[in-house]
Amino acid sequence: MKSAGSSYDELVALRAKTVFERAKLAAASGDMSRLDMTAAHVLSLLERFPALHREAWATPSNAASPFARDGFDVSDGWFGIVERMSAKLAANPANHIDQLKEKWGRLTVYLTPLGGSEATVMPGEELDRAIDEAEEESERTCLVCGEPGTSEKRGRWVTVLCGSCVQLFNMAEACRRIADRTKDLDFTIFFASEIIQDVVRLALVHIGHAASDQRPASRARLPSIDWERLDRLKETKAVMGMSVDELWRFAGKEAPGLGRKLR
Ligand SMILES: [Zn+2]
Repeated sequence: MKSAGSSYDELVALRAKTVFERAKLAAASGDMSRLDMTAAHVLSLLERFPALHREAWATPSNAASPFARDGFDVSDGWFGIVERMSAKLAANPANHIDQLKEKWGRLTVYLTPLGGSEATVMPGEELDRAIDEAEEESERTCLVCGEPGTSEKRGRWVTVLCGSCVQLFNMAEACRRIADRTKDLDFTIFFASEIIQDVVRLALVHIGHAASDQRPASRARLPSIDWERLDRLKETKAVMGMSVDELWRFAGKEAPGLGRKLR
């Protein structure tokens, strides 16, 4: 039995909203991942192609509204691909998308098949081509930022990322390493352990290198990050010169905050 107000209930309540309502809530709460499509992009697709994306407007009530239930499970970097595909598919008002998601590093589109005379408005071949082209393009487009990317198994998942976004994920990983290594410590133990301090220093240098590789466009997408400060961390000398107090502060406060921004 799940008690009232549990995270399960919250999840059910959240899922009982339309795709756009969920996108808006995520944006307002600041609880968005860089993988989420922005509310503005979601709205732009739903407003311009309301018939094609009618499932996304529906409040999910049952298994007959899978798209509404699962939403746009597509990242922001693929917005342009979805937009161009939508423009082609919307040429036939009978088309509607059941589901739009990423599967094994590839955009996957489920479309309700056309029936009867509607098929003559957009021949099946043309329709297949529009979907195939979008799905193929997704395999070489970074799902975070839309720049050219490569499809690779990273961790447990196959994802398409550009070099810059791979580095951002490496930075998030370095933040996680720092948090893992220090979360159960108090300052006295941290102060006494040079090994743990070195783990933090090494992670900081990694963060500095990854940060200094970021292009201006990539930095602009994450304006709340103090990039100049992170750039300085690639200087091993600067990191070696940090006091234990500074390291401790970074581990306890900055690293978790930075990790969240990089989600
Ligand atoms: Zn990217």
